[in-house]
Amino acid sequence: MVTRALDVILLGPPGAGKGTQAKRIAAAFELLHISTGDLLRDEVAKDTSLGEEAKGYMNRGELVPDALVGKMLAKRLHSQQAALGCVYDGYPRTTAQAVLLDGLLSELNRRVDVVLYLGVPDADILARITGRRSCPTCGAVHHVVTLPPIAEGVCDRCGAALVQRNDDREGVVRERLRVYGEHTAPLLKYYNARRILREVDGAVAPDEVFRRLREAMGNVSA
Ligand SMILES: [Zn+2]
Repeated sequence: MVTRALDVILLGPPGAGKGTQAKRIAAAFELLHISTGDLLRDEVAKDTSLGEEAKGYMNRGELVPDALVGKMLAKRLHSQQAALGCVYDGYPRTTAQAVLLDGLLSELNRRVDVVLYLGVPDADILARITGRRSCPTCGAVHHVVTLPPIAEGVCDRCGAALVQRNDDREGVVRERLRVYGEHTAPLLKYYNARRILREVDGAVAPDEVFRRLREAMGNVSA
C-alpha cells in the first residue's frame, strides 16, 4: 500500500507560536518543516545560484520575488525528505502565493490537505511580543512575565543588559498585525471555500494547542 503524502499549512499571526507547533507536527507526522526564511537562508548559505539571486534582493532591502521563492520551494518539494509531505510554516502569505503552491503540488499529484489557522487575540500577541527582553550578546530571550530573568534586566546566561528589540515594540507589532490581517483575510477565504480550513485556538498552553492541532488533522480526508 502506498501512503499518500500529507501537505499541511500552518497559518497564524506573528507571535502565535507557529514555529514551535510546525516543528512538533513535522516530527509527529514525519513531514518536512518548510519556512521560507529557512529556505532563503539555506540557499544563500550553500551559495547556490538561486541563493545568489536572492542575496541581490536581500542586500538591496527588497522582498525576494514570489517566483524565486517558488523555485526554491519546487526544489525542496522534489527532494526525498519531502516525499511524505510537508508542513508549511507561515507560507503562503498571499493568495498569489497560495496559487503558486497549488501549482507546484499538482506537478507532484499532491494538494494542500489541510490549513490550520492558529487564532490568537491581538491583545495576547501584544503581551507575548512586547514582554520579550533579548540579550544583545548571547541571543537569549526572556519575557518579563512568563520567563523573567533572575535579576531584573540582566541576562541569566551571560550577565549582559537585556533590551527590547525594535521589532518587539508595541507600535511595530500593531502594524505587523494590521498588515497580516489585511493579507490573510483573502487567503483564509480561499482555503475556506475549499473546506480545508480549520481554526485552532492558539491562546491556550502549547501542549494543548498541539493536541488540538492533531485533532484537527485527524479528520483530514484522504
Ligand atoms: Zn546573554
